Amino acid sequence: MTDTKLETKPLANNTSEADAAMELAEDSRQKQWSFPSFAAGLFNGKFGWNHISPFNKQTIEDKKIGDDFIEKIKEVLLKYIDPEKVDKTKKIPAKALDELRKIGCFGMKIPTEHGGLGLSNTNYTRAISFISSYCCSTAVLLSAHQSIGVPQPLKMYGTEEQKKKYFPRLAAGEMSAFALTEPGVGSDPAKMTTTAELSEDGNHYIINGTKLWCTNGPEAKIMIIMATTKPIIKNSKEIKQISAFIFESDTPGFFVDHRCEFMGLKGIINGVLRFENMKIPAENLISKEGDGLRIALATLNSGRLAIPVCSAAAGKMCLSFSQKWANERVQWGRKIGEHQAVSKILSNMTADTFAMHCISQLSTSLADNPQIDIRLEAAIAKYYCSELACKIADDCLQVKGGRGYETSESLRNRGETPDPIERIIRDLRINRIIEGSSEIMRLFIAREAVDKHFGLAMPFLKSKSAKDKFKAFLKLASFYSTWLPAKYMPRIRNYKTRYLNSENKSNLKFISRNARKLARSIFGSMIMYQVKLQDEQVLLGHYVDIGVKLYAMSAVLTVGDDLLANSQHKNELQNLIFEYCNKTKSEIRLHFILANKNKKIMKSKLKLSRDFLNGSLDMFIDQDILKQ
Ligand SMILES: Cc1cc2nc3c(=O)[nH]c(=O)nc-3n(C[C@H](O)[C@H](O)[C@H](O)COP(=O)(O)OP(=O)(O)OC[C@H]3O[C@@H](n4cnc5c(N)ncnc54)[C@H](O)[C@@H]3O)c2cc1C
Repeated sequence: MTDTKLETKPLANNTSEADAAMELAEDSRQKQWSFPSFAAGLFNGKFGWNHISPFNKQTIEDKKIGDDFIEKIKEVLLKYIDPEKVDKTKKIPAKALDELRKIGCFGMKIPTEHGGLGLSNTNYTRAISFISSYCCSTAVLLSAHQSIGVPQPLKMYGTEEQKKKYFPRLAAGEMSAFALTEPGVGSDPAKMTTTAELSEDGNHYIINGTKLWCTNGPEAKIMIIMATTKPIIKNSKEIKQISAFIFESDTPGFFVDHRCEFMGLKGIINGVLRFENMKIPAENLISKEGDGLRIALATLNSGRLAIPVCSAAAGKMCLSFSQKWANERVQWGRKIGEHQAVSKILSNMTADTFAMHCISQLSTSLADNPQIDIRLEAAIAKYYCSELACKIADDCLQVKGGRGYETSESLRNRGETPDPIERIIRDLRINRIIEGSSEIMRLFIAREAVDKHFGLAMPFLKSKSAKDKFKAFLKLASFYSTWLPAKYMPRIRNYKTRYLNSENKSNLKFISRNARKLARSIFGSMIMYQVKLQDEQVLLGHYVDIGVKLYAMSAVLTVGDDLLANSQHKNELQNLIFEYCNKTKSEIRLHFILANKNKKIMKSKLKLSRDFLNGSLDMFIDQDILKQ
């Protein structure tokens, strides 16, 4: 659960732009860990198996609500949406959106007392993933409306008046959007230039600026926008304030300058929005001035879960296309699925899709527990599943050969099964960029993962007076004198499971052992690099990937243990769990090796990258290419 307590802290005195950006992001981070986090435990050497096992699956009553709702969605989708046509005409039919409105699709996350369906996170993500398995553009429209659009920040930070005013309209189907990105502001919002100036009488804000790539923006009625308000002065330094506002699209001064088109997601409504002296009431400010970035980041923290569930749905689609084709296509006298090289692809695809299924199930079930902090779990699920899904879709294309590269329309026109793999690949690719790119997700996970160590080490490293340094040292020494030896101590613990066989149970010990090794390694790197550890992105990336994969194994083991209860194919399922864990254990071992050699590897890679950037290698690039 996200902690909605907000605190405003000044930015430290810093002159460089990069430092200022880091300070602003750091200041806007949700800092408290008011509730336990299973994933944070892994990075700190603690394997809290009891927190996730037995797997807390959806209750029968909640599942029934989800099942019934999905049936209604299915009816609308099949009747009113042809995904191929959406891709071609770049439009979701208005009638389809009206029908989705009627069954409550615009109010899935809005509480029932405000006219919404008040679905659990599990049912919301089930619905979105079901829609995405049919038409990604429609799923993105609905998810941008309520995962990141106005309903989510309003739910977390809105006043009762704001909720009463906007929730019923949003639930009834007035589309919403989230406007953060600007032409000069992507991953780093510190350079935001859109301004919101408070009028002299304090009754209005005047908004000026441009927002880029706002999904739903060109047609949304009610939107949330992040803009800079009057800076505050602290210790004679000017401190930038980013604030969040609700605005309505019929406000004078609001313009849609351009509708953007992309490689995939052809049906989404996305554009460049311009604000010219747009005057909005002061009560449209969400929370208070200076809280905007924190609100945006917290919205993204909880909104991110839609991406892993959609990734898992895409993986399942790809598996079903590959299964059919690998069983029927015969080449060189054998079904292609029986050639060893294809079998290897199929087995990895199956194991990875199973992992995405388990990660999504575990992460959304944790999100339904208000006593658990899921910011790391959501980020891990988003990062890992969006990467895996792209790989799986690419593997599916390879298995289908030329037919994987051909459009579904062309396949249909010449009488073949129109599996839309080419479209799925185009639609999926953006998930590695939006709502936090993979690189930024890794940095986010790393920052949260080292939070405990940074929290203890920073006062020691940064304190100026000898007295403060000594005090911080005592605190540091007292913590690490017990923490560190515990990370070396072997654990003799019998983890409780219900159906996992002994081979799979032994994977639990691997997770516990390697979580402690990970914590020791992070600690060792902290000692070695101190404050500069934050610049070691590749080293931290290895640590993040180890933690992410330990989390994925945990998800596979707990959800797998639960699935075994009612499975007709217990041996096969045990083998699937074993295969995923086996493959992932090798990857984890490799990350440890690469982390150890990182300094040497990166020295040479950084040199090559610099040589490339400064043009020293243009001699081979410039040859025989037509520059545009
Ligand atoms: C289809 C689509 C829909 C979108 N919808 C919305 C929306 O509804 N609302 C909204 O506000 N925005 C939206 N966006 C914007 C999206 O969130 C941004 O594209 C994203 O934040 C990345 O910003 P950027 O593209 O400017 O990349 P940049 O930030 O310029 O990054 C370029 C590359 O550099 C990497 N990089 C950047 N900084 C670092 C760093 N510190 N360390 C390592 N690597 C780094 C990035 O990972 C990326 O690979 C949308 C974009 C698209 C394409």
